[in-house]
Amino acid sequence: MQKTTHDAAMLAEHRLDQSAADAWRARDLAVLWHPCTQMREHPDTLPLLPIERGEGPWLVGRDGRRYLDAVSSWWVNLFGHAEPRIGAAIARQATELQHVILAGCSHAPAVELAERLLAIAPREAGRAPLAKVFYADNGSAGVEVALKMAFHWFRNRGETRRTKFVALEGGYHGETLGALAVGDVPLYRRVYAPLLCEALFTPSPDAYLAREGQSAADHAEDAADALARLLDHHAGEVCAMILEPRVQCAGGMRMHDPVYLKRVRELCDVHGIFLIADEIAVGFGRTGTMFACEQAGVAPDLLCLSKGLTGGSLPLAAVLATQELYDGFLDDSREKAFLHSHSYTGNALACAAALATLDIFESDDVIARNRGTAARMAALAAPLAEHPHVADVRQAGMILAFELARGGNRATPFDPAARVGLRAYRAALDRGVLLRPLGDVLYWMPPYTVDDDALALLAETTAAVIDIATGGAACA
Ligand SMILES: *Cc1c(COP(=O)(O)O)cnc(C)c1O
Repeated sequence: MQKTTHDAAMLAEHRLDQSAADAWRARDLAVLWHPCTQMREHPDTLPLLPIERGEGPWLVGRDGRRYLDAVSSWWVNLFGHAEPRIGAAIARQATELQHVILAGCSHAPAVELAERLLAIAPREAGRAPLAKVFYADNGSAGVEVALKMAFHWFRNRGETRRTKFVALEGGYHGETLGALAVGDVPLYRRVYAPLLCEALFTPSPDAYLAREGQSAADHAEDAADALARLLDHHAGEVCAMILEPRVQCAGGMRMHDPVYLKRVRELCDVHGIFLIADEIAVGFGRTGTMFACEQAGVAPDLLCLSKGLTGGSLPLAAVLATQELYDGFLDDSREKAFLHSHSYTGNALACAAALATLDIFESDDVIARNRGTAARMAALAAPLAEHPHVADVRQAGMILAFELARGGNRATPFDPAARVGLRAYRAALDRGVLLRPLGDVLYWMPPYTVDDDALALLAETTAAVIDIATGGAACA
């Protein structure tokens, strides 16, 4: 009797939660325009998830349901949601100084963060280290900063022919027009192509594109040879090469052998152009080392950081540059200065959050602990490689991706109209996992604090949704 009453009460509460969630959805869709979304698909094709709070790697919905955040909320979250140490640092800073104009003013969090970023930045024997930090407030803006700096440095020396950037096929650097110009994900780029400055695209070292039987390293060497030819052909016209070291994330979590980075570094030196490492997604331990460049033992001339920089709490970007680059702007003329700015440059709250994030890397020995987590992810993913519609399983540290293709054959991707990824996304949500694919690539990029139970749920869910998503599509 009592149990029935209890169940009835639970059911009533659930209905209340559901209707609260529905009411919220309606209120949202009345006023919000969501990013990276065909709004026609809400609410019917795509469910909108009203999120009330975050707890570690979990998101708690207004409907009372919990969702495992398997994509770290677009790759920004490192230590779980509402991380108390980061929260406390922001709260402390908020009572001291929230923001001050960074042109002409200075503040402790901005200086301390710059010192600490420079101290941990990738180093290379025989190369001058990164020496200066320029702040922006999101990744795309950071990329714009790096591109403009490289171009402007040559201008300041009177080298006006160097107007081109080299970038990788399948690369992604953000959505602002300069960043889109050096990106090569057609879905984001194609419409805006007429507006974009010219970039030179070079074949990707992506190991998935290797010939049958060819090793990842050999494919990377071939891609580097192609880059060498491109740079020879455009000698004197290029100011910088930009790439995502180790993993082309938005392009489908495509991974390459670190030997490519070594070759690129050499080629950039031979041609006297700058190397811009966009570690916005791969930085801060994502690929197993603090920065992906470390895996090739190279240091870039410009390093773009954002996303994990504040542990996923506040927007901030940092562009690290060499002394040589910085010195190229020192002059009596203001026009030779780098006059780029954003209102919230070097925001004190965001810098405080970033400092707390770096503290956690030290106190929790994050990089070492992640090695164990990454090994558990590998073990859980291994059986899925046998699935008939999985063409590839690849991993770089805390990123693990499943490439789905019909019959597990790279040559026969699923028809985009089958919306395999979207079906997987919906099926995963039903099982309490936020697993947002890139096309037909499902990937795990969880907060580093994800525990064994959550990983087990992730693996079980992934197996189930691959079945569901590819089942119908395979028959269609
Ligand atoms: C996300 C991303 C960007 C853009 O950062 P935003 O903060 O989203 O503008 C740039 N480069 C890479 C590699 C990224 O993954």
